[in-house]
Amino acid sequence: MHHFRYIGHNLHCESVDLAEVARLYGTPTYVYSAATMADNYTRLSKSLSGLDFQICFANKANANLGVLRHFANLGAAFDFASGGELRRVLAAGADVKRSVFAGVGKTEAEIVLALTSGIFAFHVESEPELARINHVAGKLGVKAPISIRVNPDVDALTHAKISTGKSEHKFGIPLRFAAAAYEAASKYPHVALRGVQMHIGSQITEVEPLVEAVEKVAPLAAELKAKFGITYFSIGGGIGIVYRDALASGQAAWWEAQPADKRPMTPESYGAALVPLLKPLGLKVVLEPGRFLVGNAGVLLSRVEYLKRGHGKNFLIVDAAMNDLVRPAMYDAFHEIVPLHRDTTRRSLVADVVGPVCETSDCFAKDRSLQELGEGEYLAIMSAGAYGRTMASRYNARPLPAEVLVQGSAFELVAARETFEQTIAGEKIPAFLG
Ligand SMILES: *Cc1c(COP(=O)(O)O)cnc(C)c1O
Repeated sequence: MHHFRYIGHNLHCESVDLAEVARLYGTPTYVYSAATMADNYTRLSKSLSGLDFQICFANKANANLGVLRHFANLGAAFDFASGGELRRVLAAGADVKRSVFAGVGKTEAEIVLALTSGIFAFHVESEPELARINHVAGKLGVKAPISIRVNPDVDALTHAKISTGKSEHKFGIPLRFAAAAYEAASKYPHVALRGVQMHIGSQITEVEPLVEAVEKVAPLAAELKAKFGITYFSIGGGIGIVYRDALASGQAAWWEAQPADKRPMTPESYGAALVPLLKPLGLKVVLEPGRFLVGNAGVLLSRVEYLKRGHGKNFLIVDAAMNDLVRPAMYDAFHEIVPLHRDTTRRSLVADVVGPVCETSDCFAKDRSLQELGEGEYLAIMSAGAYGRTMASRYNARPLPAEVLVQGSAFELVAARETFEQTIAGEKIPAFLG
């Protein structure tokens, strides 16, 4: 469910006409719905009722300061993948006391930052990392709160590049070694054992792999609670969203029309399957959703530059590119593409929707059937709120795109499009070149 829909002929985000946003701020521009984010957060919270839980928004999915403040206002904590993400949360005016720090390569400087900021816990991914955290905490004269990430060796049934919970992945410590790792961790003088963590992958659309992983890790969690007094179990993130019928899935009717065996996992089915497994543990449950909270709350607006009619192939060349939204190039991801002005009297067109970057992989959609569009007309690439702008680059010397946050009929630029001067600000010609 989300807040993107046609009102009359024009696509709106909440009460805002997206063509107006495109005209005002140019394209490519990301637009986010505050109401959709709030709804996603509230629905997920409701589905966990009966548990003592804490939602830590994984801000690698969307780290815009306005978005972070919105989640902080809703009561969310955060999951960091780097010191930069921690600093963004602080810059957004939120505190990090209930937030957690993940990632396989935490540097000494990042550990110092997290300890001095007073985070809830480190999610430790290896023994050398544990030794380093212990060492840094000792130097600062504090105890570092930690949990170990265990790898339950479960197939998340998602794309290979976003699967993290099999034994061949770099993440966590294999479940069978976890008890020994906690035993070893308990000997370190400058760490405090707080919980246990798992995260098996992203864009998970069926509940079974999550059930299997929770069932595998729950006995360890119970054992660690009895032995070391841990207080929480983090079950990670990974809840998937609808990409293929993105626009239609904004309406309840779409969900009702899906046959029961085809309906993607919802917060309600997630909660119904997991709460009964988690409740008997008597531990706080930490969740780290990223994509679910923001993915369907954002679109990328773009303008048509050319319709190039080829030999047996048409190309709709737009002003957004793989540097703005890399998911199709990187993960072969599907994104629905819709016009901002819908005109049912137009013919339809089958085309590849491509950006201007000099790479064949700079392609948002192959052989897509769309309403015929011409130069200067706008379109929206749907479900672009997660892993969109946070993965953007400046490839082909393109500036980072703008971001706009909508709430009701209000909208504001929350990140200006980069200027050319900003893109070269850190560079210089070395003296030896004269
Ligand atoms: C990326 C990540 C998440 C969030 O994943 P989503 O699929 O976006 O929900 C949660 N926890 C950890 C440890 C992660 O690396």
